[in-house]
Amino acid sequence: MISIQNVHKSFGDLEVLKGVSLDVDNGEVVSIIGGSGSGKSTLLYCINAIESIHKGKIIVDGIDVHNKETNKDKLRQKLGMVFQQWNSFPHMTVLENAALAPRIVKKMSKEEAIEIAKKELEHVGLGDKFDVYPTKMSGGQQQRLAIARALAMKPDYMLFDEVTSALDPELVGEVLDTLRLLAEEGMTMICVTHEMGFARDVSDRVAYFHEGVIAELGEARQVITDPQNPLTQKFLSKVR
Ligand code: ADP
Ligand code: MG
Repeated sequence: MISIQNVHKSFGDLEVLKGVSLDVDNGEVVSIIGGSGSGKSTLLYCINAIESIHKGKIIVDGIDVHNKETNKDKLRQKLGMVFQQWNSFPHMTVLENAALAPRIVKKMSKEEAIEIAKKELEHVGLGDKFDVYPTKMSGGQQQRLAIARALAMKPDYMLFDEVTSALDPELVGEVLDTLRLLAEEGMTMICVTHEMGFARDVSDRVAYFHEGVIAELGEARQVITDPQNPLTQKFLSKVR
């Protein structure tokens, strides 16, 4: 599981996370919603140790993420992360992109890495795109490639940061369908998202972020359709 315990994080004088606590069980899907600048991305970066924290603790699978002794590379192999912008290598084919990390980071043989990459590309519906260059694909396909690349590392957890926000509206559905599939397969996921329908239907719980704290946390349908905190109510009335 992922256990976030009273996490504080500042950039200079700006305190961005002001005591965030959240436990995500294995197999659980938690969506994080909230306004721009409320600290959602920063929390994800703290979970996979891209950013340090100033107070509190984050435990992933029993590993204290911010302990100096912790092997950050080992930790990150447990945590797949996909961002808003696709981040594939344009000079490599789709298959080469997906096989890269297993080869370099996990030191797999070429054959083994290719086999895993093919499987994960099929998993996200890109089984017919192995030899295509990513720039020749739609934004939705590129995001699914980014997901396949992360999955090829066989992570135990997936962190998604607004993976549909940069997409044309007609491409959002295919990426959300991929996330839904992973959720149904039991992947443990934290999804920062602006897609309220997705948050309501696919996640188990929803956390509403407001100015560096979780202002509301509850069962997904309840938070989205019947929020209790006036701040959540105000936010949802604006984004609907
Ligand atoms: P969100 O993802 O909810 O939009 P972020 O976590 O990206 O919010 O940012 C929260 C706040 O932290 C914002 O005010 C942002 O400007 C600030 N911030 C984020 N990253 C940095 C950084 N590396 N240096 C300084 N300020 C940052
Ligand atoms: Mg963000």
